Amino acid sequence: MRQAGEQGTLFVISAPSGAGKTSLVSALLDRDEALSVSVSHTTRPMREGERDGVNYHFVTREAFEAMIARGDFLEHAEVFGNYYGTSQVWVREALAQGRDVILEIDWQGAEQVRRLMSGCVSIFIVPPSADVLRNRLTGRGTDAPEVVERRLREAAEECRHAVEFDYLVVNDAFEVALADLQAIVRSHRLRMPVQQVRHQALLAGLCESA
Ligand code: 5GP
Repeated sequence: MRQAGEQGTLFVISAPSGAGKTSLVSALLDRDEALSVSVSHTTRPMREGERDGVNYHFVTREAFEAMIARGDFLEHAEVFGNYYGTSQVWVREALAQGRDVILEIDWQGAEQVRRLMSGCVSIFIVPPSADVLRNRLTGRGTDAPEVVERRLREAAEECRHAVEFDYLVVNDAFEVALADLQAIVRSHRLRMPVQQVRHQALLAGLCESA
């Protein structure tokens, strides 16, 4: 547990669709109780198996635009024709409580967050090859060719922004990629500004022990 007044770390994770980002983040959350994920608002229709308030807060375009006008979002972007946004209040409160927070957002959102939150840590996840990405996005071959082409174009566009991130994780073997993500989170928890607050009493005691 962190002490009062200590800020948590904000981790921004982006990836092209087909990189396995959602499964990796879900496994990371399962193994790390100190991490929380922000549930975004979106105007896209709910998919089968999704739940309102769990996967996303599903809202209308009008409601979303009213939230933009009120300044409710830390960042927001239009992705594939739908709005997506991160709640400003939720993220700031979680960080103020010392919790580490993950944002699973696209490169446009990551760019905005990097500008606003100087201490954030950004991670880009990629599949092991262009062929693997193509196979994953082509799926079972049941989608219309123009849908597949659009997905591939969007994935390539997302990947063009990979170099803007602090870390790159290649999701070839799932467990290795997960260990890489855990290592990034762990190393950031060990940084001096974080440790100095957490172990204030220990350091003070050690300095006065002689
Ligand atoms: P999907 O509709 O497949 O769940 O997500 C589509 C894309 O929107 C993904 O790249 C996802 O990371 C991104 N996304 C999800 N939530 C947010 C958000 O709050 N802000 C931004 N900028 N992108 C988001």
